[in-house]
Amino acid sequence: MATTYREEPCRTALNRVKGMPFGWSLNPYMGCVHRCTFCYVRSFEQRAQRPSDDRYGTSIRVKLNIADVLRRELARRSWKGELVAIGAATDPYQPAEGRYRLTRACLTALGDARNPLSLITRGPMIVRDIDILAQAAQHADVSVNFSIPTLDPDVWRTTEPGTAPPRQRLKALRALRDAGIPAGVGIAPILPGLSDRPEQLAEVVRAARDAGATHVWAKLLYLQPGTREHFLEHLARDWPDELPLYEEWYRHGSYLPRSRTDPVTRTVSEMARQEGIGRSRPRPPGGSVPSSPVARVRGDSPAERSPAEQLPLVL
Ligand code: SF4
Repeated sequence: MATTYREEPCRTALNRVKGMPFGWSLNPYMGCVHRCTFCYVRSFEQRAQRPSDDRYGTSIRVKLNIADVLRRELARRSWKGELVAIGAATDPYQPAEGRYRLTRACLTALGDARNPLSLITRGPMIVRDIDILAQAAQHADVSVNFSIPTLDPDVWRTTEPGTAPPRQRLKALRALRDAGIPAGVGIAPILPGLSDRPEQLAEVVRAARDAGATHVWAKLLYLQPGTREHFLEHLARDWPDELPLYEEWYRHGSYLPRSRTDPVTRTVSEMARQEGIGRSRPRPPGGSVPSSPVARVRGDSPAERSPAEQLPLVL
């Protein structure tokens, strides 16, 4: 399916986020051509009455003026220099960034303002912006998170049809660490029965250590309406034997019970500790585990902002 790019200016750059470890999010693009089968943004697209099926990721909004708007917002007297999380609702280093360079421009603006930032991506293109990130890290807290759910080639290829191989993300992580930029790995989402075996998790944790990760955190798959239908449809095609198990595991709702998630996150935490990785507790970018899976947002025009932009969680 061909991808269309809609060059649409924005009126606001920073989105207010409540109930999360960070107060503000920033997304230069809306929609994501990576089209991961588990992408949680699909559920928000469905709520906004936009396609959450295979058409998701085929129409990308490009906020051409976002860096200029961001600079104005950062210059306001009312701006208190709070942490800004980049990439909560779309990958800031999806292919369009090679042409538009909006993420780079936003990082430059945040760096010039000496504003703390966190960023999450699956895109090795981030190495292009090492100069900006290293400079920003000299004056403010900077944290980069590479989303690497698994190193299993079959699971990666099947569930992330548009992303770069996980080993490329690890190479990018190494490059950032060599430049002194704090960067780690989010093992998310872990897919029960497909990527949660201890040896699979250990492989990611060891690779993160070898790449110099400053932290590792983990989160299991959750399936909200919109994501659920799409993921299960693809599961039925790709791993039909798993379908009854998922239907059973997720029969009570979008989240697995803690009796199933806690042992996995504890295992990752212990593995990271044993590997000597600094910050080993499961935690998403910006701080502690969120108190709520969905942030409430207020501030700018809801008509302009996609519900997906209200998402504070990890890619
Ligand atoms: S999970 Fe992240 S990288 Fe994958 S499609 Fe969604 S926003 Fe893009």
